[in-house]
Amino acid sequence: MLEILENITKRPFNLHGNETLERFKGIIHLEELAEVIKDTSLCGLGQSAPNPVLSTIRWFRDEYEEHVFDRYCRANVCQDLRTFKINVEKCIGCTVCAKKCPTDAIIGARKKPHFIIEDKCIACGNCFDICKFDAIEIS
Ligand code: SF4
Ligand code: SF4
Repeated sequence: MLEILENITKRPFNLHGNETLERFKGIIHLEELAEVIKDTSLCGLGQSAPNPVLSTIRWFRDEYEEHVFDRYCRANVCQDLRTFKINVEKCIGCTVCAKKCPTDAIIGARKKPHFIIEDKCIACGNCFDICKFDAIEIS
């Protein structure tokens, strides 16, 4: 169950249609696993362990689906799913973020607004931490 949960909180790179479906199947599998664990555990601890997962799926299923299909965490808790953008109104083109980006996802000329190439961004947060002009925004 932990593996399935961790999987949907990760940003899947180069994911194709079928693989998204596999991730969604993970949620269904999670529910089945939870029921089996509840039914077959010998003690109360095991019987109640899956309850948080079952109740969050029951009440927040749309958020699970957002994680799978939109790769979006509305609570902004899943670090891998954060989206970083540069506010061009605030960016002065100092180039510091581009130098600190581990994947060369930030482009732009000196003293001109910079941009993040979303496909290359691994959501490490370096640019957000280093920008002194609050020009990096997270959504
Ligand atoms: S560190 Fe901030 S101001 Fe400097 S280029 Fe990056 S986003 Fe723009
Ligand atoms: S979050 Fe990390 S990988 Fe993404 S643009 Fe910023 S520094 Fe680069």
